[in-house]
Amino acid sequence: MQITSNFDGGNILVRDIADPGDAHLEIRRDNNSDFYQWFYFRASGVRDTSLVLHIDNAGSSSYPPGWKDYRAVASYDREQWFRVPTDYDGERLTIRHTPDHDSVWYAYFAPYSHERHQDLVAACQTSPQCRHELLGATVDGRDLDLLVIGEPAAGKRVCWIVARQHPGETMAEWFMEGLLERLLDDEDPIARHLLTKAVFYCVPNMNPDGAFRGNLRTNATGANLNREWLEPTRERSPEVYYVRKRMEQTGVDFCLDVHGDEALPYNFIAGPDGVASVTQRVLDLQDEYERLLMRSSPDFQLEYGYDAVPPGAANMTMCTTFIADRFGCLSMTLEQPFKDTVDSPHELVGWSPERCRKLGRANLDALHGILDRLR
Ligand SMILES: [Zn+2]
Repeated sequence: MQITSNFDGGNILVRDIADPGDAHLEIRRDNNSDFYQWFYFRASGVRDTSLVLHIDNAGSSSYPPGWKDYRAVASYDREQWFRVPTDYDGERLTIRHTPDHDSVWYAYFAPYSHERHQDLVAACQTSPQCRHELLGATVDGRDLDLLVIGEPAAGKRVCWIVARQHPGETMAEWFMEGLLERLLDDEDPIARHLLTKAVFYCVPNMNPDGAFRGNLRTNATGANLNREWLEPTRERSPEVYYVRKRMEQTGVDFCLDVHGDEALPYNFIAGPDGVASVTQRVLDLQDEYERLLMRSSPDFQLEYGYDAVPPGAANMTMCTTFIADRFGCLSMTLEQPFKDTVDSPHELVGWSPERCRKLGRANLDALHGILDRLR
């Protein structure tokens, strides 16, 4: 057996794989950082081999509760990702699988490659409704892409949707793919109506460097981008610096920051509660948005999420809180699971790219329901 990870998004350290039935691996830390949890590697020469792959350092990863009731994803063709039996003893994560083919890829969640990101941006920009803007360069010199959907005009609502500040949360970009596809569908009545009243500024991948490097949470300098919003700099966090600068030019009436949560097996929203300046009007809008989203997608729910933050106690370095305070608008973080939704589990795929895409689409229904009252 060979195990390799020298590709886009790859992450694994090989310790001892002499015995495929008792192989030892570790997850590599994000560069310049202690975070780690994302893994993505290829096992070769394994057809019909009963693999037992131990990730020995799982217990001291960034979010150990993420391994409880978790199942790794696997693929033979890197298109279809299915779940494989995985257990966790409090220290080691163990994947047990007998592959049908010579090579198999294993990952924490279905990867979203830089090539696919570029294909997405390219496909969107050919729509007459879409303009592409290159906001600037990342630390590693990658393009930071912005898609502007709809015609900017006075009186239109300004909606920002950003995804994948945390690069290992690939579900966020799968979500964006579905949302963008629907928004650009000129035969979708919700999309068409939204675009008569609103302009969308979408950043499908806030952290292309971290994504390519196989990081869980940080960019190429080791910055956690979702803690950089108060004082981003060109050197340390250019991704946030450029997006924030563009937001200052457009204003913001609505902001959705899309993420994934390691531990909680639910889709949920965290709002700007805890921001000292937040108004009851905004909190009521959030409440209605969540109810509309739940009606549109039974994969979304209201019962489980993060604990409410007491007024004035919010961490103001995050996208959601910073935007809520700076622009006085509805600003939310949407979290999807790495595992599956407990209320609506899918045995074969768990929470999957297609389910992410459908949740992205459903968010436009919710937004449609509150759009007129955003300002
Ligand atoms: Zn996140």
